[in-house]
Amino acid sequence: MIVYTHTDCLKKFNGHGHPEKKERLESIISSIKSSNLKVEFKEAPLADLKTVSLVHPIKHIKKIFSNIPKEGIIGVEKEPYADTMLCSFSKNAILRSCGAGIAAADDLMKNNERVFCAIRPPGHHAETSRANGFCFINNIAVSARYLQKKYKINKIAIIDFDVHHGNGTQEIFYKDPSIAYGSSHEFPLFPGTGGENETGVGNIFNATLKAGLESRDFIKIFDQKVLKPIDKFKPEAILISAGFDAHKRDPLANINLESEDFFKITKNIVDIAKTHSNGRIISFLEGGYDLLALSESIKEHLSALKTHI
Ligand SMILES: [Zn+2]
Repeated sequence: MIVYTHTDCLKKFNGHGHPEKKERLESIISSIKSSNLKVEFKEAPLADLKTVSLVHPIKHIKKIFSNIPKEGIIGVEKEPYADTMLCSFSKNAILRSCGAGIAAADDLMKNNERVFCAIRPPGHHAETSRANGFCFINNIAVSARYLQKKYKINKIAIIDFDVHHGNGTQEIFYKDPSIAYGSSHEFPLFPGTGGENETGVGNIFNATLKAGLESRDFIKIFDQKVLKPIDKFKPEAILISAGFDAHKRDPLANINLESEDFFKITKNIVDIAKTHSNGRIISFLEGGYDLLALSESIKEHLSALKTHI
């Protein structure tokens, strides 16, 4: 298994006290390195704008980059979402995060390798023409489109267990029957989308979770409302938006998963990939804001991902 990351992803700074901080990624990397998980680390390349444009208009991306300050930080959205920030190191961090997913797609298809993208900024809140929720480019969406275009993979499932709804991913693929998007998320909570009546063209599967939900009920709901329809969809590849903020320690949400639950959740996804997708999986880091929870949960996630390629 391969883990893509880059030190550029550590340089993005969102301001003191901001939950999306470099320590998140440091904690994940050091946890993987000190574990007995045998993974190969690779440097994430910079994404090229042509591939990014499979999802986002180049004009929109260039506008984001033109807002990057020489020093200090600026927000790209208005209140109440003024916490999506740019600093002078943002451009490379954004392009490395997206480039990880593109390189991962090549490794997946050429070498039959499963890949985890240990990246920041995350991507699942980024809409076609809107940066949102700490996200600028929708990393997983670009990777999905690249797999379709370069490798003629027709049906792709994106499974999102981040505690927040991936409004960007849903918006991008809302009318696209070749991509199934299944998400479990606390509701109501930021970003406010993801009601179970939002079903796209029969390709969107939202599972709303009540604050305070415990492990057993989460697993049951995730199985029924996300995994069952994805299994029926029979994807040729599965991409995971892996956010670890449904953990009970997470400060931004109120779902009570234990670290070990991320093994079970991931293993259930791996089983579907084995059945329909030749075992093909790429996983992308999204949210997760408690450092201890991240360092424990990532080991569970990767242990399950390593099984049965
Ligand atoms: Zn999240």
